[in-house]
Amino acid sequence: MTQLYERVALIGLGLIAGSMALAMRRAGLVGEVVGTARSAETRAVATEIGLCDRICESAAEAAAGADLVVLCVPVGAMGAVAEEIAPHLAPGATVSDVGSVKRAVIAAVAPHIPEGVHFLPAHPLAGTEHSGPRSGFAELFDNRFCLLTPLPGTPGAVIGRYTALWQGMGANVESMDADHHDLVLAVTSHTPHLIAYTMVGVADHLRRVTESEVVKYSAAGFRDFTRIAASDPTMWRDVFLHNRDATLDILGRFTEELFVLQRAIRMGDGEMLHEYFTRTRAIRRGIIEAGQDTDAPDFGRAKTRG
Ligand code: NAP
Repeated sequence: MTQLYERVALIGLGLIAGSMALAMRRAGLVGEVVGTARSAETRAVATEIGLCDRICESAAEAAAGADLVVLCVPVGAMGAVAEEIAPHLAPGATVSDVGSVKRAVIAAVAPHIPEGVHFLPAHPLAGTEHSGPRSGFAELFDNRFCLLTPLPGTPGAVIGRYTALWQGMGANVESMDADHHDLVLAVTSHTPHLIAYTMVGVADHLRRVTESEVVKYSAAGFRDFTRIAASDPTMWRDVFLHNRDATLDILGRFTEELFVLQRAIRMGDGEMLHEYFTRTRAIRRGIIEAGQDTDAPDFGRAKTRG
């Protein structure tokens, strides 16, 4: 396969960067992968497990001479990292990010990008509740979407090259406007995470009443919520702080819908509940037909990751 980039720099070495390093190696599409992380501890782990070809002491050092730099830090840290690497970016390089929110990241990063360097924001729709340099795996992006939110005027060749890299890492790539991305993700990911955090919080309060029964008898529904609610606290704090409007909009709609169902239960309106659950079941079928999940029963005991 043709080499797409000579040197890729990954800034931040957690789940996403680690999976990218492994997926790029699997695809053989880049010359060298260099990486760096904020803490000496993460850099030491990354060195120990051979995550990248080379681990650098700082983001500035990693970015220097790279033709692709990918920011893989929490959304709230993107601006500071962009400011740090800006003077070291090679002319003609591409800078991208993997942040779960796009409009706020563009606002934080774009002002630091020097003339002659291309900023191409992206978001791979793949993840697990695990974090850190040991959590990555090469298959994370297989058959998942990676959404690009290019800024106006980005050359087609820059987009084409980065698209080819993500496709090489197994992803299906699509482009959309950053605001649209943030609204879609508020529905499909951000609000569901908030609901899971809330439900586990409710159970935690209840647990104080029923001792350990909530944990002991946790059935699939609650267990699934706890998996989502175990996601990285820093990452998710930043997602809600930086996708505020879209999340509040969807949360408002969610609350209204909850009242509709609450009323149906109170009124004993079984017909309404049955019709509602029939519609939601069809959505699940659509996701399976689109290849975004499998139909295999999972009672929380499957050994598969993701
Ligand atoms: P992660 O496993 O927690 O790793 C985060 C990395 O960022 C670590 O190397 C950490 O360094 C570094 N970091 C944290 N705070 C920082 C700061 N203030 N300044 C500089 N570096 C900092 O996170 P991840 O899951 O890979 O997520 C990374 C990005 O991908 C986030 O923007 C997230 O929104 C996005 N994303 C996540 C998922 C997911 O499901 N996890 C999916 C798609 C996109 P240390 O280890 O040294 O602390």
